[in-house]
Amino acid sequence: MTIAPAPVAASQPARWSNGPWPSEATVTASATTIAVPSWAAVLSRLAARAWDWLDGFPALDLVNTVKRIGWQEREQLKDVADLDSWLDAAALPVPRPAHVDVKDLHALRALRDPALRLLHARLGRGDWLHADVEAVNTHLLAAPELVLLGEHPGQTVRYPLGDASAMTRLLAGLAADVRDATQRSDLAFCDAPGCGLVFYRRRTNQSWCGASCGNRVRVARHQAT
Ligand SMILES: [Zn+2]
Repeated sequence: MTIAPAPVAASQPARWSNGPWPSEATVTASATTIAVPSWAAVLSRLAARAWDWLDGFPALDLVNTVKRIGWQEREQLKDVADLDSWLDAAALPVPRPAHVDVKDLHALRALRDPALRLLHARLGRGDWLHADVEAVNTHLLAAPELVLLGEHPGQTVRYPLGDASAMTRLLAGLAADVRDATQRSDLAFCDAPGCGLVFYRRRTNQSWCGASCGNRVRVARHQAT
């Protein structure tokens, strides 16, 4: 096996017109090695752009798949392609399943909806319902895991107990992050038009998830007077 030299930047991928891209990350061309992204990397970057409002926290990335357009809440996980794309873009507590189907889509939404209601209830925006608690706990019980302290600051090591499927482990990991999110005092809701995201405050007096939401609210208030 030849070890290629470090990739260098290329102005144009080498084989765009010569059939499919190689599965390897590099293509050797005469004296230099040209970096060529794999299809998976390209699709992952496109997916990340499509979900660019996500926040990098598993529980929040889950519940924020219901997105406010204007003042209307809209479902962003409409089909399996949406789920596949979200799995590439979201912060996940465990590796994503390689393949997902419509059953997985329904299972994820069946966790997402109670999780969203619980986070809102934690913020005083609705009732803390027994059925929602039970839905989250059912996922925790389906794939229990041991979480040990890691060798580096802030690191933990997770050991799944049992042999649950990748999707069951993912749902359990998301349920665990939802449970932990309900315990956080910095949990907040951005009630700006076109936002409606659940987020973690970076300052105690932070009302909006970001400056653009604050600006939109101020403009809307000014126009209303
Ligand atoms: Zn916002």
